[in-house]
Parts: sequence; C-alpha cells; structure tokens
Amino acid sequence: MENSSPLVQDIETTARTSSFHSFRAFLDARAPGSAQAATQFYQLIDSIEQSEKSKLLEECRSRAWFVRNEETGAVRVAAKQCRLRWCFHCGESRQQFVTQALMPWYTEAKAPKLLTVTIKHTDEPLPSQIDFLYDSFRKFRNRKFLKDNIDGGVWFFQVTYNQKSEQWHPHIHALLDASFMDHQKLMELWEKITNGSTIVHIRSVNDPEHTLTHNARYAARPSALVKIPEDRWPDLFEAFDGRRICGTWGSARGISLRPQKPDDANKWHDVGGFTTVSSLVDTDDSAKSIWEAWSLSGTIEEGVNMDHIYKFDDDAGDKPPPKDEWDIEPYFDYVGNPF
Ligand SMILES: [Zn+2]
Repeated sequence: MENSSPLVQDIETTARTSSFHSFRAFLDARAPGSAQAATQFYQLIDSIEQSEKSKLLEECRSRAWFVRNEETGAVRVAAKQCRLRWCFHCGESRQQFVTQALMPWYTEAKAPKLLTVTIKHTDEPLPSQIDFLYDSFRKFRNRKFLKDNIDGGVWFFQVTYNQKSEQWHPHIHALLDASFMDHQKLMELWEKITNGSTIVHIRSVNDPEHTLTHNARYAARPSALVKIPEDRWPDLFEAFDGRRICGTWGSARGISLRPQKPDDANKWHDVGGFTTVSSLVDTDDSAKSIWEAWSLSGTIEEGVNMDHIYKFDDDAGDKPPPKDEWDIEPYFDYVGNPF
C-alpha cells in the first residue's frame, strides 16, 4: 500500500496523534492519490451513465467500528463497504482476502510456478482483445501437454496502457502447481492458438508467499487507475463491467475468491465507533487500549469499550448500531490491521 510503513515507530506516532472523522478518512490519508482517482473515476462514469455510483463510493467504510473477538481478544474494524470494482479500499480488502484464501494451496503446492501470457499489440477495442485472450487461454490450458503437466492453477487478468502507441496490453498471470514444461513447446502451442503471439513466460517459484501476494492484487483490480489516462477510464469501466478477472481450475478449483463473511463472524462484538475511539486516543484509557490493540496487533480484555462515553453522550455520532442490525447486513466485513 502506498504511504504505508511497517515501522512500529511510525505506528506509535500515528497512535498518539490520530484523530479521524471516519475510518474512510483514515484509509484515504494512507493512499491519497489512489483514493482520489477512484472518486474522479466514478464521477466521470456517473456523468456518462447517469448513475449514482459516486454516492456508494463516498459512503464506503465511512461507518465503521472496532470489534473484539470474544475468544482471542484481538481487535479489528468492521465497516460497511461499497464493493465497487474500482474502489481502491474495497480492492485492498479483496487482495487481502484472495491472498489468504489461496495461501494454503500455493504454499503447499508440489512445484509452484508462475506463467504469463500475452497477445500481440493491436488497435482492437479492449473488450474484444480481452475476449480473444480469455478464449485463447482456455484453449491453451485444455491442450493435452498442459493438462498432463498442470495439477491446478489460478489465473489473474492484468491490463496496462502504452501512452506512446495508445494501445492496451492485456496479460494473464497464472499461478500453477505444475511439472517442468519445455518453454519452446509452450510458445509453439500459444503461437498456434493465438495466430502469431509468442510471448509466454514461465518460471519456478521459490517464494510462493511473495509471488502470490504480488499477483493477488490483480484479483482486486486489473489495472491501477492512476496509471491509466483519464480519457481511457470509460473504456476500462465498460470492458470490466460484470466481467470475471480471475478464476481457478484443477487442484485449485473450489477455492472461493469471492469475499464472504468469516466463519467466526458471531464471535466479534463491537467495542466502540471508529471516530469516537480515534478522537479520544490521547485522553481516554479505553480508547488508547482499543487503538493500540488494533494498530499493533495486540489484544484487549473483555469489558474494554466506549460505553462510558455513549452513556453520557447519546449524540456521539458513531455509536455502533445494535448487533442484530449489522449482523445480518451482507456488506460488512472485518478489516485487519492495514499497516
Ligand atoms: Zn468500497
């Protein structure tokens, strides 16, 4: 994540000086360029489509509160999210989810590999290039040579834009559990399927955790908005509206890449609103404990909460709603420490 630092010293500085009017403001401050790009992107889309997506985006993670796990004492943030594809914060959360979902499969793979394929650069519209690449990749992995050598895989789509040639460059990256495959043979097959594209990279992976984390970001978004010129954003929106951008097959089939409510959802209980806690970090012991447990991956005792504040101040804006109200809400998730 941009502007983030794993240094404890920095985190402690944040803990001492933090006061944010919402969780969203806190997240925006850690990645201002990307957050701003998403806002501009949906304003542009709304003006073209006569839609109201900006409003959803604006509300994303603005209502948030700290929750404590009744068994471990760990603290996380529960937040209402928008789940728009180009929302930067939803993307970060999705990347985190996909990484965790695939980690056991990839780190336990017998022979982890990374395969990348791309097609010849053309001036074709983006949607037809993507259709062609997807179709070719499906044929490719169904060839006997690949079927015989690949136990399973997960594919991600990425697109970059070359401003000089004004062309899109679509790629597919695939994490594989696969035996050795001759590069020349792979290139020949790909060239035949695509009528002339020869770019195939394959390598063994010695650091599956790192490779997975790096590639899982494409499951969140096929391109970083800040790297695409604004006048191409409508093309990007249209090309990916409702389109799958990742998938699994073979031994990885069955791993869900769609964020869902965690199994232990009923073990998390609210201890205070994000705004209340962050504004009282310097003056209230409970707020300080909650904030530090969250930002330093620590724990808090049962009974540490902000009820003493809410008791006297009914207007404290972000008092958590009753549990049964947010428990059934399908769009809450549990955000881990973002540092
Ligand atoms: Zn969002």
